[in-house]
Amino acid sequence: MLFSKMFIPTMKEDPKEAEVISHKLMLRAGFIRRLSSGIYTWLPLGLRSLRKVEQIIREEMNRKGAQEILMPLVQPKELWVESGRWEKYGRELLRIIDRNDRDLCLAPTHEEVVTDLVRREVRSYKELPLTLYQIQTKFRDEIRPRFGIMRGREFTMKDAYSFDMDESGAEHSYLDMYDAYMNIFARCGFKFRAVEADTGQIGGSFSHEFMVLADTGEDVVISCSNCGYAANLERAEIGFIGKEGMQKKGQYKRVETPGKKKVDEVAAFLGVTPATLVKTLIYNTDQGVIGVLVRGDREANETKIRSLIGFDWLELSDVETIEKATNGPLGFSGPIGLDIPLYADNDVCNMEDFVVGGNERDIHVKDVNVADFSVKGFFDLKIAEEGDPCPRCQNVLMAKRGIEVGHVFKLGLKYSKAMNATFLDKNGKEQFMVMGCYGIGVSRTVAAAIEQSHDENGMILPFALVPFEVDILPVNIAHEESMVLAKEIYNNLLDKGIDVVLDDRDERPGVKFKDCDLIGIPIRITIGERNLKDGNVEIKIRQEKESLKIKKEEVIERVLNYVEDFKRM
Ligand code: ATP
Ligand code: MG
Repeated sequence: MLFSKMFIPTMKEDPKEAEVISHKLMLRAGFIRRLSSGIYTWLPLGLRSLRKVEQIIREEMNRKGAQEILMPLVQPKELWVESGRWEKYGRELLRIIDRNDRDLCLAPTHEEVVTDLVRREVRSYKELPLTLYQIQTKFRDEIRPRFGIMRGREFTMKDAYSFDMDESGAEHSYLDMYDAYMNIFARCGFKFRAVEADTGQIGGSFSHEFMVLADTGEDVVISCSNCGYAANLERAEIGFIGKEGMQKKGQYKRVETPGKKKVDEVAAFLGVTPATLVKTLIYNTDQGVIGVLVRGDREANETKIRSLIGFDWLELSDVETIEKATNGPLGFSGPIGLDIPLYADNDVCNMEDFVVGGNERDIHVKDVNVADFSVKGFFDLKIAEEGDPCPRCQNVLMAKRGIEVGHVFKLGLKYSKAMNATFLDKNGKEQFMVMGCYGIGVSRTVAAAIEQSHDENGMILPFALVPFEVDILPVNIAHEESMVLAKEIYNNLLDKGIDVVLDDRDERPGVKFKDCDLIGIPIRITIGERNLKDGNVEIKIRQEKESLKIKKEEVIERVLNYVEDFKRM
């Protein structure tokens, strides 16, 4: 490509609309432009990177025997009613009406359509297992689109769906995809972790998120400093060593805490630390109203409560429910004398002489011990924090920020049952197909790569994802000898299959150098009049400070060696 002919609208200044570095750099380097909230155009440079991610994904999916298809973006309401998601999906699902008053939606994901396809076409066990994938546009009307294409409304996803005869087949398909993802993200040059994620009602460890580690990530990865344990914040478990059961009982005293509802206010008023309080949180669940006890300085983890205790759903109770369940107002709930099932976090088991709510306005109770009330049990119910013990080896847990670029998930029979996707087994008996789904945020992957590697001058994309591998930069395009050599090297590298751009613009060298660094082209060949007099050109690697003077005859070999080195990294 000739730079002068390319559409690369770079920007000198940081755009105001961008908060995170990847968004800033993608705008500045002319990768993307915004059309509307969460909706972007990919420009030539950005698209080259996006296509490289897609290509890596295709190769690794095909290697596992997954087959590429392309499903519609616009989908009929009926299928979504069948799966139950027309109601459940909420406002992220963008609904539209056609000229015949038919309800349609823009696909945020494709379980319905793929299940419909397979239930119509696959009849026999002989046609299973089957894994289909596509790389396609999704639309999700996100509440808070932000960080450019990182959380867009319209974005590109690779989504795959597996169909198996039975559980063990489904587990095999799952592990295949897990393996493909490990390869994909390694080839993209990421520092990443595969972390356990919540499986909802499916259970088991059949949901993993692939997190690129980056300080600006929206997600938190909890991992052990010693063993291999890693999970997302929702799912992360905490190790626990219980003390001997506390025997104290009946020593508690009711105290006045006028107007003090919040943990910090009560603690300050009583002159104690928040860690000596126990909060009583009242929840509505599918099994009725319950209470959850958590140490005052920690937060309850609703995902863990739901899955450990086996609720289908739960949400914090409204004021009326709290008043009815506790006979006291919001902010003063406590476990003593409460007539609802109580579940306590493990911490509470080790506490002594603590403070709880008095179930009466302006009253708390102090010097309380666990024998003073009855609980269903002690469980791991709080949100993990750095410094907590690992659930596997008791070593210290660490918390790091991450960007979720992929998600593999065992669906089980959820969609096949709802939509009656069956096949005939060996005995001619009708069975439901066991499904899995596997997503990669293709466009987000490009942003995550930039987020993970850049410097003050611009992007340093991993070699596998760069829009161009080599930039040939003649300092003065009016100097004939420079241009002849530049074109010769350019054609030679093109023949060798290198992604090369020739910066033939009539610009000051400073401008060209800056753009080359901004875009993050890994190998730069500078051709200047003075060096050329001695038969030399300069070669510079993006991450390195110094450039190297080499004989012009050696350029091609050098570049090819560098490319090999980069590919091995
Ligand atoms: P998130 O928690 O970030 O909203 P999700 O759980 O909704 O993600 P999935 O439904 O599992 O995501 O989608 C698969 C992948 O698609 C995600 O791992 C992520 O990389 C990507 N993705 C999801 N939402 C967006 C978005 N709004 N913009 C860009 N990529 C997205
Ligand atoms: Mg989402």
